[in-house]
Amino acid sequence: MSRPVRVRFAPSPTGPLHIGGVRTALFNYLFAKKHNGVFYLRIEDTDQNRFVSGAEEYIFEALEWLGISPSETVGNNEKFGPYRQSERKHLYKQYADELIEKGWAYYAFDTAESLENHRKQHEAQGKTFIYNWHNREKLDTSLVISTAETQKRIASGENYVIRFKTPVNETLHLHDVIRGDIKFETNLLDDKVLYKSDGMPTYHLANIVDDHLMETSHVIRGEEWLPSLPLHHLLYKAFGWNAPEFAHLPLILKPIGNGKLSKRDGDKMGFPVFPLNWKNEDGTISSGYRESGYFPEAVVNFLALLGWNDGTDQELFSLEELVEKFDLNRVHKAGAKFDPEKNKWFNHQYLQKQSDESLAENFKQILSEKNISTALSVTDEKLIKIVSLIKERANFVSDFWDLADYFFEAPTTYDEKAVKNWKEETPNLMKALIVELEKISDFNASALEEKIKPWLLENKVMPVLRLCLVGALKGIDLFQLMEILGKEETIKRIEKAVESL
Ligand code: GLU
Repeated sequence: MSRPVRVRFAPSPTGPLHIGGVRTALFNYLFAKKHNGVFYLRIEDTDQNRFVSGAEEYIFEALEWLGISPSETVGNNEKFGPYRQSERKHLYKQYADELIEKGWAYYAFDTAESLENHRKQHEAQGKTFIYNWHNREKLDTSLVISTAETQKRIASGENYVIRFKTPVNETLHLHDVIRGDIKFETNLLDDKVLYKSDGMPTYHLANIVDDHLMETSHVIRGEEWLPSLPLHHLLYKAFGWNAPEFAHLPLILKPIGNGKLSKRDGDKMGFPVFPLNWKNEDGTISSGYRESGYFPEAVVNFLALLGWNDGTDQELFSLEELVEKFDLNRVHKAGAKFDPEKNKWFNHQYLQKQSDESLAENFKQILSEKNISTALSVTDEKLIKIVSLIKERANFVSDFWDLADYFFEAPTTYDEKAVKNWKEETPNLMKALIVELEKISDFNASALEEKIKPWLLENKVMPVLRLCLVGALKGIDLFQLMEILGKEETIKRIEKAVESL
């Protein structure tokens, strides 16, 4: 690697950042850190028609949540700034002019209407209209009118665009880090618009100029940009600049069926395709991983494995480990299937790694939202204990309530099937049990197990005791349960069951 590594994430703020975009940002981040390089972020907002308010803030917030913020960007370490293309507007004209001077570009005056007519005529004959070498000299361009006439039309305020003059009859042999050697025939390319008379460059010109000025060493981006590679390569050539290396990441595919993962797949199957919640124009919310209860570490981990692995079976990687192991050469060409169920598994794994204290803290919030906090004086210590006992069955903190509600609310109904275990002699046995329980002064799981388990087994009342305490035949170890409920509450629940069953 000859140049210092400088890679970028270059999103257009046209809506919430899709999870595929986040994966692109992550791979750039990992590559930069691995090579002690710089990961910067440039906002590509030259298409003002597609501007969506809040989208830029959303991008920064999402990356921050995931712990993969850029080290140079808008408002932060603007070494090559500005980092927002709309603020670099004044820069691009000279480069468009340079291409015209060198014969790599030309002015085109075709109106939208006339282009539409061409399109329709072609369609009528079953053909597609492509603006390129085969017709550019029959269209309204500076290639066929004199320089003086061109200047006159521009000066009179006529709308124009500057198009790239793609070379004819060339085969381009290009290289992609992930895909290897790729051939492109220039005759199949269209002459893309680079600049418009409203003073705005298009994506292609701004992207290349900025990648050059910001000294980008590698362009790592989604596969959907692969068709732009020949044009970008030719632009570098036209300017006489060193091109960066290119790596096009594989598509992220639907969980079932073919094609690219879309927001609709998420809506249909009930999983987020965005990192954070996003409020749509119609007021509806598109759900995000953060608000759905995912840990950022889990999201980073599952995204890293969409198109990459380290060559072993290892699936759990911390961000630091990813930085150490990430290798662009190990990124696959083939699309990566998105597996929402597996993503839950990742969250489950990361949930187990959290401390019981911090999980209890999160659970407390849920309890207070349910106005539960005072219902059954649960001390922090008990809450931590509860969490430690139930977490292995949870994927999310939000699962805790269903797994632990019986600690906080005494049963008001009893599971019908389980009630079948309640026999004629059960009330008397339960009363006898209460007498035994009253005698136990060290009301903890091991003492309880030692002192009453044999009796419970002998009388076959383990299930009915559980029924008294939980209202159903579910829940954690019976003796742990009694310890957490405490003597008073345990006895109260048994008495209540005896009364109502
Ligand atoms: N602005 C482009 C996008 O929205 C950037 C593509 C590239 O990385 O070149 O993804």
